[in-house]
Parts: sequence; C-alpha cells; structure tokens
Amino acid sequence: MRQAWLSELLLLSGLVFAALLLAALFGYFGWFMFAALVGFTFRHLYQLYRLERWLRVGRVRNPPESWGIWGDVFEHYYRLQRRYYKRKKRLARVIREFRESTAAMPDGTLVLNSEFRIMWFNEAARQNLRLSSNRDLGQPIGGLLRSPRFKSYLDAGEFDQPVNVSSPIDDTRTLAVRLIPYGADQYLLLVRDVTRIQRLQTMRRDFVANASHELRSPLTVLSGYLEALADEKVLGEEWRDPLEDMQAQCQRMNTLVNDLLELSRLETEEGDATLEVAVDVPTLAERIVRSARAEDRDRHRIELEVISNAGLAGAESELYSAFSNLVVNAIRYTTTGGVIRARWFARPGGELVFEVADTGIGIDEKHLPFITQRFYRIDSSHSRLKGGTGLGLAIVKHVLQRHNGRLEVESTPGEGSVFRCVFPQQRARYSDAISSGSSILAP
Ligand code: ADP
Repeated sequence: MRQAWLSELLLLSGLVFAALLLAALFGYFGWFMFAALVGFTFRHLYQLYRLERWLRVGRVRNPPESWGIWGDVFEHYYRLQRRYYKRKKRLARVIREFRESTAAMPDGTLVLNSEFRIMWFNEAARQNLRLSSNRDLGQPIGGLLRSPRFKSYLDAGEFDQPVNVSSPIDDTRTLAVRLIPYGADQYLLLVRDVTRIQRLQTMRRDFVANASHELRSPLTVLSGYLEALADEKVLGEEWRDPLEDMQAQCQRMNTLVNDLLELSRLETEEGDATLEVAVDVPTLAERIVRSARAEDRDRHRIELEVISNAGLAGAESELYSAFSNLVVNAIRYTTTGGVIRARWFARPGGELVFEVADTGIGIDEKHLPFITQRFYRIDSSHSRLKGGTGLGLAIVKHVLQRHNGRLEVESTPGEGSVFRCVFPQQRARYSDAISSGSSILAP
C-alpha cells in the first residue's frame, strides 16, 4: 500500500486507539469515540477547504503544504496544472508564429469555417479585399466575392485550381482565388492579385492574333501570284521545282497562321464551351474520317467504329478541330500501309471517349509530358516535312479544357500510339437527331 494511505490508516487507528484507552480509564466510550471521529473528519474538511481556496485563486502557485493523502493530492494536481500551462504556452507560441508568418505573406490569406464564413484574415487580405475585423469577421465569403464564377467554384467543390475573379473593390483588377481544405471542414482561402500577369497574357495573345491576322493578306497575294506563275508556260522547266517548293511553303505558312489564330481564339474565349448545343459526334466523326481518307489517298487503312450514339454538349467547330488534329497526326506519324482506328464509345462509368489509335512510330515516354506544349516537336524536320505546325496538340488540349475533358496518351515507340479525348458524363447528350446504334465505317 502507498505510504500516504498507510499514514491515513495509522492516524485513524491512532485516534481510535486513544479513544479506547481514554474510555478504558474514564468510561464514556461513546463520547471519546465520537471525539476521535470528529477530529478525523475535521482534518479532512480543513484540507478540502485549503484545496478549494487554492483552486479558486487559479494561478500556478506552490500548493499548500500537507502530509498523508492530502499531500499527494496537492502534489498530483500541482503537476497536472504545470503541464497544462506549459502546453498552453507552447500552443499560444505556435499560433503566434503561424499568424506572424501568414501575416507576412504577400498573398491574401483567409481562414474560413465549414460554412465558408470568415474566421481570420491577414494584412494582405485586408488590403486586397478591403476587409475590416469588426465588420467582416463571421460573414460568409460569398457575400464579399459576389462573382458568379466564384459561386460556381464553391458549389462545384473542386478546389485543385484557382479561379480568377474581378476584385470586389476595383473591377479593373483580377484576383486569383484558391480554396484549400484542411483539418475538420476548415478552409484556407488564398487571394493573389494577378492583374499584371493577366495584362501581359492579354498583350501576348493580342499580339499573336494581330500578327497572324496581318500575315494573312500578304500570304494570299503571294499564293495567288505563285499559282499564276505555275500555270504560266513562258517560265522554263528549271522553274518548276522551285515554284512547287514556294507553293508548298506558302501552304505551310497558311496552316501555321490558321492554327495560331485558332489557338488564340480558344485562349481568348472565357470559360467553358456552351452546354446548350448538342453536337452529333457520330456524324462529325464520319465527316472527319471521310475527309482524312480523301487527303490520304489510300496510303493508310483508316477505320471508324461508332459504338455510342451519344452526342456532346459543346462547340462543333472546336470538337471538329480537336478530333481531326488527332486523326491527321495519326496519319502523319504512321508509315504508309499502317492502320489508323478511330472509335467513339462510352466507358462503363459514363465517360465518353473519342479514341484514335495508330500503328505508327510511337512516342518515347520521356516526351509525353511535353507534347501538348506549343511548338514542341520530337523530330522537327519530320513534323515540318509532313506539314506539321507544332500547334495541333496544344489546340486539342485547349478544346478539351473548354469541354471539361482531358487527354490520355499511351504510346510505345515503334508500335504505335493511342490518343483519347475523355469527356465527363455530364456533357453527354442523347437525341433522336443524333445517329443511333453501333456502326463501323470500314474503308
Ligand atoms: P505537329 O504539328 O508537329 O504534329 P502536334 O502538336 O500535333 O504538332 O504534335 C506534337 C508532337 O507530338 C509532334 O511533333 C510529334 O512528334 C508527336 N506526335 C503527335 N501525334 C503523334 C502520333 N500519333 N504518333 C507519334 N508522334 C506523335
């Protein structure tokens, strides 16, 4: 048994023994026993009073001196209290450091609770959004950033990417806003002023669009004269090859200018492609494959298999451009006699897929992350020779982004490649106007 309990028992037995002794000497057994127990109870009441007074003061102070079981109780409680205060101090320091570091951050930072109400914000957020502690703490963030884009961002619940909204205090400025979930239903809202980057991007886009547009007229004139000269019989035979070469180069520049214009148009269009128009993908795919065959003049076997009768909500011209770029690439990078197989089907989960598989030269794995970058070519001379501009897959990527889709690529060098445009189920549209049933368009 512990020492403290032993002393308590000894005290009680001492008192009882003394009472018995005194009763043996003087009689009055009951009174002596009563006095002994009152003494024992009084000791405990007194110690309880000291404990209550000490707790009432509430600060870390040396505990009252005592012995027996009360000495142990005071000691244990004192130790617990010290541990609690130490932990509290450490937590306060961590919170202070966190606040100091986020306050020093150049980006606006807000802490939101599970209902997206503002719980805390730093100095940059105060300036960017002109927040005030008294007025805005506890307010829902939706009331402050009223843009419909931000609202659909919150509703969608997908916070991997930031969303651009105009500043609530100056609509000429653009803020990139990103929500980061943490802990139990808490959110960190990061706000960055991207006005300068946006202006630079707009300038770059405008420049490319204007330059491409300006190049169009001189190119048309040049092509016209070259065509006339090619028909002219007065020029000698020695001019035939140079003229053909000049015409081919003019054609290449034309394609390049058109691709640049297409890309800058896709970049300029804000937001996602419309959900209202249903594009008849089976018919679109047939058109693409027919025109690819006409261009290819039987150098490859080009097949189309339409397994799904679904259409897609989106922009027809953009989808045409994306799908035909994949088919043209497959032809371009497959040697004569190879097979190109296009398929339109739905995955078991509901996603819709336009797939183009070829038996061509394939792509080494190390190039895969870069092939959708503008002007990225694995073999520039081969691409140029085949009429490539280096912009095809960049266009595909942009079109897919605008249709909430993604590009999947699988490839084995020397064996072939598979490119898949994958669209979410929400984009699927079914109507009687869309050709139905499974069909195979064999060559
Ligand atoms: P390009 O106009 O040069 O074809 P793209 O942007 O369409 O430009 O494609 C980028 C690069 O990706 C190409 O230069 C080529 O190296 C590679 N590539 C694209 N499609 C295929 C394919 N089906 N097979 C092999 N390589 C391909």
